Amino acid sequence: MSKLVIVGTVAFDAIETPFGKTDKILGGAATYIGLAASQFNIDSAVVSIVGGDFPQKYLDLLADRNIDISGVEIVKEGKTFFWSGKYHNDMNSRDTLATELNVLADFNPVVPATYRDSEIVMLGNLHPIVQLSVLEQMESKPKLVILDTMNFWMDCALPELLNVIKKVDVITINDEEARQLTGEYSLVVAARKIHEMGPKYVVIKKGEHGALLFHKDNVFYAPALPLEEVFDPTGAGDTFAGGFAGYLAQTKDISFENMKNAVIYGSTLASFCVEKFGTERMTDLKNKEVHHRLQEFKSLTQFDIELT
Ligand code: AMP
Repeated sequence: MSKLVIVGTVAFDAIETPFGKTDKILGGAATYIGLAASQFNIDSAVVSIVGGDFPQKYLDLLADRNIDISGVEIVKEGKTFFWSGKYHNDMNSRDTLATELNVLADFNPVVPATYRDSEIVMLGNLHPIVQLSVLEQMESKPKLVILDTMNFWMDCALPELLNVIKKVDVITINDEEARQLTGEYSLVVAARKIHEMGPKYVVIKKGEHGALLFHKDNVFYAPALPLEEVFDPTGAGDTFAGGFAGYLAQTKDISFENMKNAVIYGSTLASFCVEKFGTERMTDLKNKEVHHRLQEFKSLTQFDIELT
């Protein structure tokens, strides 16, 4: 079985959407990535850090999904990373109300020995120095390194971020962040500039407008599934990344053609994530439901046009 190692935040989130408000609930980039990747037949491990305030039941929830959590450090006297965000009425944009790094400020990640030969490394959203450290601990060269990041790290650690971007094969980033990173409005031009920074594959996530995959002069576009209800978009980007990475790990094929399917899997899983607050929908998601939605996806995007 392929191995996937995931680094990212395991967090408390407080979320406000037009539909309601939550107090501190389970969140974090690595949490969403891990839950999405747990839909696949692979071995996966999360490398992260939490404080003594983090409930054991949340760690159990990840372990129950067969995610190796031996790389999650618990700092008894520390506080867990906390993020709070408020969505605007269109649910496509949000304001970050608080980012409290807490234990993340002094995090030295340790990749479990059994995962240092993972085929796929998913560098989820957190400090680029931590992402780099994970990469440096790999004992054999991974087949694929995927990086996800956000504007927060562009604002406060850009040189370090550019250094890690140089070393990865795939970057997943949202449209606004791609524009911020490159200073280009056109996403096609932005993707080209990001290619020049290092990654051979660039995935630009566009929320309810789907995702674009760029590789050299090839572009693939997958829409997002039109949903009746979007409750909370938090974690959709990470869920997409987890689905993308998990599918590639399971199929052991990192060609552009197969990455198209990975984008479809990522989009499908993200469409579940937004249906409930936080991680709620992802924790009880059944394989059968995913399969059914993939079929809906297929009929949504398939057409048979005769070109003469
Ligand atoms: P997404 O909606 O996919 O962008 O991801 C939201 C998740 O990212 C939340 O669960 C947060 O805990 C986490 N998050 C927010 N800000 C940061 C940050 N600066 N670094 C790492 N993770 C973050």
